[in-house]
Amino acid sequence: MCGIVGYIGKRNALPVIIDGLKRLEYRGYDSAGFTILSDKGEYITFKKAGRVTDLEESIDFEKYIGNVGIGHTRWATHGEPTDANAHPHFCMEEKIILVHNGIIENYKAIKSKLESEGYKFKTDTDTEILANLINYNYKKTNDFVKAVQLSLGGVDGTYGIACLCTDEKDKIIAARKGSPLLLGVGDEEFIIASDAAAVLSYTRNVIYLNDGEMAIVTKNSHTLKTIEDVEIIRDIQVLDMVLEQIEKGGYKHFMLKEICEQPESIQNTFRGRINFETGVAKLGGLEKVLPQMLNAKRYIITACGTAWHAGLIGEYMIEQYCRIPVEVEYASEFRYRRPIIYKDDVVIGISQSGETADTLEALREAKKYGATTIGIVNVIGSTIAREVDAGTYIHAGPEIGVASTKAFTSQLMSLALITMMIAREKNTLFSKTLREMAQELKQIPEKIKRMIDRKEDYKSVAEKFRKSKNFYYLGRGVNFPVALEGALKLKEISYIHAEGYPAAEMKHGPIALIDKKMPVVFIAPKDRTYDKIISNIAEVKSRKGIIIALANEDDDNIKNYADYILRVPKTLGIFAPILNIIPLQFLSYYIAAMNNRDVDRPRNLAKSVTVE
Ligand code: GLU
Repeated sequence: MCGIVGYIGKRNALPVIIDGLKRLEYRGYDSAGFTILSDKGEYITFKKAGRVTDLEESIDFEKYIGNVGIGHTRWATHGEPTDANAHPHFCMEEKIILVHNGIIENYKAIKSKLESEGYKFKTDTDTEILANLINYNYKKTNDFVKAVQLSLGGVDGTYGIACLCTDEKDKIIAARKGSPLLLGVGDEEFIIASDAAAVLSYTRNVIYLNDGEMAIVTKNSHTLKTIEDVEIIRDIQVLDMVLEQIEKGGYKHFMLKEICEQPESIQNTFRGRINFETGVAKLGGLEKVLPQMLNAKRYIITACGTAWHAGLIGEYMIEQYCRIPVEVEYASEFRYRRPIIYKDDVVIGISQSGETADTLEALREAKKYGATTIGIVNVIGSTIAREVDAGTYIHAGPEIGVASTKAFTSQLMSLALITMMIAREKNTLFSKTLREMAQELKQIPEKIKRMIDRKEDYKSVAEKFRKSKNFYYLGRGVNFPVALEGALKLKEISYIHAEGYPAAEMKHGPIALIDKKMPVVFIAPKDRTYDKIISNIAEVKSRKGIIIALANEDDDNIKNYADYILRVPKTLGIFAPILNIIPLQFLSYYIAAMNNRDVDRPRNLAKSVTVE
């Protein structure tokens, strides 16, 4: 999590750092700070609890003129988000200056050792301990690079760092293990960043660091090495993003922009991967593991948060249409419970960022047992994408809003394509059915557009319930995970308590909470569970609950039961979750926006959870 930006080159460093931090703020926003090496050769630091904009408003840019600097926006793990705990951190002698993403797990042991050597600490962070450890090793070696290598060699946990040493003023050292880091390569300038968004205004040429690697960067050179001091040669890659993709483009919030981008993002997920006439789905990135996918006795899908909900929907799709057993696991639980994994299992990790620490570790665990690992990932070149045996990019484009929207629907589309590909190979679906699916798939972007045109209707329902304290979201079959995702969206950005539940489970407990103040969102499209869900609606209505029903455009019957209706176009079961989630995304967006919540930066959250 967190954002790191470092600059060394011919420009004034601070504007580049502040611009980069603003673009990375979605990764963490508890506090922010920077250190600049001034033209006079002094290191000047400013750091502050709060947002990057708070920091920006409190500084006089004229005071911080210099061509070298590092900056950070924090998502606190150790120590409250105070001014003191904000990064950069210094060693006791203020020789080593450090920004850090991740967690130094053995910081307590290192701290005791350093304390016995007379070191004193001023903050509650694990990062300050690492700064002092580097200083300790620097005293022994008198060599900045060696000191960083020795220190990182003794650290457990995860880090992405950018580090300065007051004795070697012409240098920034960056290193990573478990936290993304890249080097933007400009004309006589370099930008170190935890995310490509921070370098895009200056260059599209980048070098990604892998785990266990470091970059030693000066104004006109860069050297890549492993922590063990082996030199590395790596080609520069050209980013395929453009600046408009990471800007709001007239929308009030990134989340609203991203909800409204879904006709295009979905299209980008299936473009070139499906033949609409024959129904043949082809995912180039998975071809080399196709034999394993066809022979596997089971698939395990592992993910966190919204991606886990996508995984649950994938389970319904793959079991129903491919007849392969699927287990869906929270990545954080899976890896620690000595899971039983067989060599012929296929383990699929889903992660928007491709950096989610728990998902990454779960995939690594699966690999140890010899299983085939697959990634469904958005960010090109991310760690999961690089480490799995094979994978498919969802191509949703950069997602900046912390609450995932377009990545979720593109994950679902990727799972639908995988399902169609495997079902055809295994002959578990008729060709005619596959052709019908492909024809319907073509209509999905248009149907999403129809819902975007109807957003004022969804907004008027949001208006009615913006003050509600609790919500239920209920669905059956494949719409049960949609209910979970709808509830999560509301919780994340509006801080209203919401629970998703299988509609029929309701009577086994939760129905006790129904009263006339409780809005219940039923996901009730006309599918094979429709009559059953109508009965569940009746049960809630009999107990005076308020019914908000998500129903198909042509469903008149629903008016007899629902107090409010969110209309959705009809589609085939395999694509229904992609459409059904969209009104729920709008509902939570509008409720949060009407309650003046910080929609793109909800409290306590951050995009891309790279800590465990
Ligand atoms: N563990 C560090 C801290 O709490 C870094 C957190 C982050 O990744 O922002 O300050």
